[in-house]
Amino acid sequence: MKNLKDYVPPSFVVERDDYRCIRCKACVEQCSFDATFYDEEEDRVWNWNANCVGCNRCVAICPTEAIVVRRAEPSYRYNHNWSGHIDSLKKRAMFGGTPVVSMGNDKPYPIYWDHLLLNASQVTNPSIDPLREPMELKTFLGRKPQALSVSDGGLKTRLAPQLELEVPVMFAAMSYGALSYNVIEALGRAAKEVGTYYNSGEGGLNKDHYKFKGNIIVQVASGRFGVHKDYLDVGSAIEIKIGQGAKPGIGGHLPGEKVSETISETRMMPKGSDAISPAPHHDVYSIEDLRQLIYALKEATEYKKPVAVKIAAVHNVAAIASGIARAGADIIVLDGFKGGTGAAPQVIRDNVGLPIELALAVVDERLRQEGIRQDVSIVIGGGVRNSMDVVKAIALGADAVYIGTAALVAIGCTMCQQCHTGRCAWGISTQDPHLGKRVNPDIASKRLINLLEVWALEIKETMGAMGINSIESLRGNRLNLRGVGLTEKELEILGVLPAGE
Ligand code: SF4
Ligand code: SF4
Repeated sequence: MKNLKDYVPPSFVVERDDYRCIRCKACVEQCSFDATFYDEEEDRVWNWNANCVGCNRCVAICPTEAIVVRRAEPSYRYNHNWSGHIDSLKKRAMFGGTPVVSMGNDKPYPIYWDHLLLNASQVTNPSIDPLREPMELKTFLGRKPQALSVSDGGLKTRLAPQLELEVPVMFAAMSYGALSYNVIEALGRAAKEVGTYYNSGEGGLNKDHYKFKGNIIVQVASGRFGVHKDYLDVGSAIEIKIGQGAKPGIGGHLPGEKVSETISETRMMPKGSDAISPAPHHDVYSIEDLRQLIYALKEATEYKKPVAVKIAAVHNVAAIASGIARAGADIIVLDGFKGGTGAAPQVIRDNVGLPIELALAVVDERLRQEGIRQDVSIVIGGGVRNSMDVVKAIALGADAVYIGTAALVAIGCTMCQQCHTGRCAWGISTQDPHLGKRVNPDIASKRLINLLEVWALEIKETMGAMGINSIESLRGNRLNLRGVGLTEKELEILGVLPAGE
């Protein structure tokens, strides 16, 4: 019998105009969450509002614009202390487990990007028109020499291996397993076309995607799924994943039902078994251990590839980053707490970590103070939403950024936060072959290319307004930033002056 105490009000209400509806059943066939059904006897389409996740697939597909999905107003009495906590408490009591969620932290913590304003040239230093003058966005990631020695017109200094990016934006680590085959295909094609990199994530690399050699960063995570000699050889760089912004301090879990034949081959694990990534690497319990792993990977790839270390932005991030630089990493990746995930416990996603803006500012400053900033490049991710976030990140000290959620939104994600269910109605975060076909790699890659090309144009436009013609001159140039609506302490941590000064 239904337990009335289990009642949780729906989050969305589907409104269908019965006069407009032509009973084509497209919405019924397309809804992967069973929120819509057709009643043959009454010749009507009905909804289960409780199942609706607000993905808006039905709204987009309806040929007669008969559907509107609205956010449901909570029907409980408003309570400043308890509203927003009642359903989550009830779910724990009902199911006896901690809720798993996906995408990034959606709580209203401050977004520091929106409290930073950029500078522009006026009279005393001329601005530059990017349509008439050359503008340089090319970025090299990897260890830089302290000084260059040149003789007979040639460079004598032996340079460490570098990644070469045409635009300082890369596609963040998102594994095949979390994402569908066609999405990975689209990311690879776009990275190749634009001259940047996509990151394999921790799920290994399907052999079909070896063709993207030259534009792939391969990840080595705690589960070591799919890590072998050929995999390392295909990567232009190797990224050791210690942590992830959306779930610092914990490992990962790909449920067995997502481990299909091809995923099992790619990950080198039995089909249908859960892919568990432990919280720590079982051979890394100190900076010295990390150094051994970094050099083991350098040795395995004949010192031809930069090795990156990715950590979640946490409270003592600056000291950890300093240790990573001294351990021999060529690139440090900082992932902020707004970063996305295919699945994470809600309590961790919503309460652990640091805003990436603050983490970036303190890491860049610390490495400069210690005189080791040139030993590593800094790449940030976790909440980069637009080209101006990229410009502000570079002015704060980043060499480049990773985008994950923004890339998925570009190919159709509506942020319904259901990736962990594997039933993504847009075919993005699913291994269901039927759903996966909803992403056409030709169209998806074109959209990703458009996104990066438009961002590149916007970045050049903004640099031109500042009178800067090379991204190198913007890097760590915090004088081009001013803070608004920030406390003195926040301004101090960010290392920027208040607007007006
Ligand atoms: S897609 Fe639109 S027209 Fe077709 S059944 Fe659904 S509501 Fe009716
Ligand atoms: S990837 Fe799919 S399931 Fe995940 S948030 Fe986007 S639309 Fe929703």
